[in-house]
Amino acid sequence: MPALDLTRSSVELTADLVDVFSVSGSEREITDLVEAALRPLAHLDVTRDGDAVVARTNLGRERRAVIAGHLDTVPVNDNLPSRLDDHGILWGRGTADMKGGCAILLKLAAELTDPAVDVTWVWYDNEEVASELNGLGRVSRNHPEWLAADFAILAEPTDAEIEGGCNGTLRAEVRTTGRRAHSARAWTGDNAIHKAAPILELLAGYHARDVEVDGLVYREGLSAVGIRGGVAGNVIPDECVVTVNYRFAPDQSGADAEGRIRALFAGYEVTVTDLAEGARPGLDDPLAQAFVASVGSEPRPKYGWTDVARFAALGIPAVNYGPGDPALAHADDERVPVEQIERVEAGLRAWLSA
Ligand SMILES: [Zn+2]
Repeated sequence: MPALDLTRSSVELTADLVDVFSVSGSEREITDLVEAALRPLAHLDVTRDGDAVVARTNLGRERRAVIAGHLDTVPVNDNLPSRLDDHGILWGRGTADMKGGCAILLKLAAELTDPAVDVTWVWYDNEEVASELNGLGRVSRNHPEWLAADFAILAEPTDAEIEGGCNGTLRAEVRTTGRRAHSARAWTGDNAIHKAAPILELLAGYHARDVEVDGLVYREGLSAVGIRGGVAGNVIPDECVVTVNYRFAPDQSGADAEGRIRALFAGYEVTVTDLAEGARPGLDDPLAQAFVASVGSEPRPKYGWTDVARFAALGIPAVNYGPGDPALAHADDERVPVEQIERVEAGLRAWLSA
């Protein structure tokens, strides 16, 4: 593979990165290229952990921002190499998710030798696979000091809009119990499925909260996502389990959310099976406000869970901002408008040059 040339445009660099195969678990080559391109730059302090590269400016600025992107992609399906069409659309695996963002970071890391805030640039591996493999999570465990900052931007695809924070998610099993009996003499048993009716009524009638956090309105959701029960066609069942998923606004911690669910289903056996914290957008911070003003677009709340929550866990407010339509992220016809790559580059450049 030829070395990356950081004097090429961010659009050309996007195509260069897309053409380096880097499905999760195979990021060695692309990480080597990124590291080799950054090492010679005297204004950056470059370190590496596995297939994650961290490059920091150390200008002694009062504030520091982390700007990060993952280098891995979901599996290729006949959609490489990249192809630029006549309408300014770049096609191929990784164009939207998220080599456009990674290319912009490389370009700006090389060119902004004197940014308005100190910047920690991060490119990492294994975002598209199981959470315990996530490169950003690994760096935050091995070297939390590398990620220390006041504000974080993740260049995941957002159609070049700012999407702040994210909702947290909790899954719990709500269980009813009863007593088995032959259904021919149902009155001798105690039907656990019938006893689930109030749980379902509560869920069906539940009014989801709309919560304003740092100026963005997050809509919550509380839904049954599964139900199981039943022994046989002639047996009164002695157990029924309703699985609920609570998407909670980032004004609550995971512990708050768990408390709310336990209070709501008081009197039932409740087992939490999965819990991921949400993330505040941190848009009340002057650093973030300057970013929003530079970009010049109205921020939106992020409903799905993303790696911004890993920054939140470190106490760093974080937003998503990157080129590409998130709905196309894993599609075979993945693509990105060149105009969005240029717009995000200009937005970040304006903010960091202010
Ligand atoms: Zn992604």
